[in-house]
Amino acid sequence: MTETRKPGLFGRLATRLASSTAGLRGQLSGLAAYGPIDEGFWEALEETLVGADLGPEAALSLAADLRREAERLQMKHSREAISGLRTMLLNRMEWRPRELAPPGGTTVYLMVGVNGTGKTTSAAKLAARFVADGQRVVLGAADTFRAGAIEQLRLWSERIGADFVGSEPGADPASVAFSSVEAGVARGAGAVIIDTAGRLHTQANLMEELKKVERSVAKALADAPHESLLVLDGAIGQNSLQQARVFNDALRLTGLVMTKLDGSSKGGVILGLEEQLGVPVKLVGVGETAHDLQDFDPHAYVESLFEGPS
Ligand code: GDP
Ligand code: MG
Repeated sequence: MTETRKPGLFGRLATRLASSTAGLRGQLSGLAAYGPIDEGFWEALEETLVGADLGPEAALSLAADLRREAERLQMKHSREAISGLRTMLLNRMEWRPRELAPPGGTTVYLMVGVNGTGKTTSAAKLAARFVADGQRVVLGAADTFRAGAIEQLRLWSERIGADFVGSEPGADPASVAFSSVEAGVARGAGAVIIDTAGRLHTQANLMEELKKVERSVAKALADAPHESLLVLDGAIGQNSLQQARVFNDALRLTGLVMTKLDGSSKGGVILGLEEQLGVPVKLVGVGETAHDLQDFDPHAYVESLFEGPS
């Protein structure tokens, strides 16, 4: 008798991450087989890292650090250098604190990012996770720019069993955010998750509005928002670094959410973002349903970039 086993949750995530990093993995594996280390190896490594969407700065500084380390340890073969790269990446990623704000009282989450990255979906997924933990959750629709956005969040809250706080289209987002936090505190909710707009008439307008939302949330509850999560589309590679810089300058970001890692995402961008912003990736989106949000596992991520046992 044969037993068929469904891949577990971890297996599924590893598979999905692996598909998003397959190109880079193939190239690194090719580099491991390059042979004795020479100038050509370092050039090929630089080229690979620059092509992996880490951003040229992060890619070149990583290659330079690895070269220094390889020389210090008198590495001879490309295999040693690639294995050294794996260790270096693990060291750089594993220490970053990635836990979400600890529960206790009402925790306020602000979801920000440009249009279409997955803010509303990620807000709903996060809400579904807390509801499953037995918490009361308020979803606040502070994207008042589009009527469709309010309705989308309202439907999600019905589907997952969260409270909904919304308004008419065109209402002041800061006041919706304030009411959401106020309602959450009054009802003893464990989490208030605020969805925001990703597009206004200009980028400067959007940043001003988000700062206002941030201030108004703090007025409703001291220390809030506890998490300001920038949602980025994993499929767009380098552009997310530019987006992230704009949001990071305007707001106090506490974490990144990389969505659409189930698609043809650019695997290297996660590494580059953390190196250049210093803001950790906390969550990853791996599909369109309420369950497709996972804690980011740096170990699994780095392992997915390399082939075979270490
Ligand atoms: P928003 O404009 O930032 O609020 O983006 P939405 O939450 O409305 O998402 C835009 C589209 O991306 C929707 O069709 C979502 O279903 C889809 N989406 C969001 N997250 C993911 C993900 O992790 N994987 C996939 N495949 N699709 C996603
Ligand atoms: Mg939205």
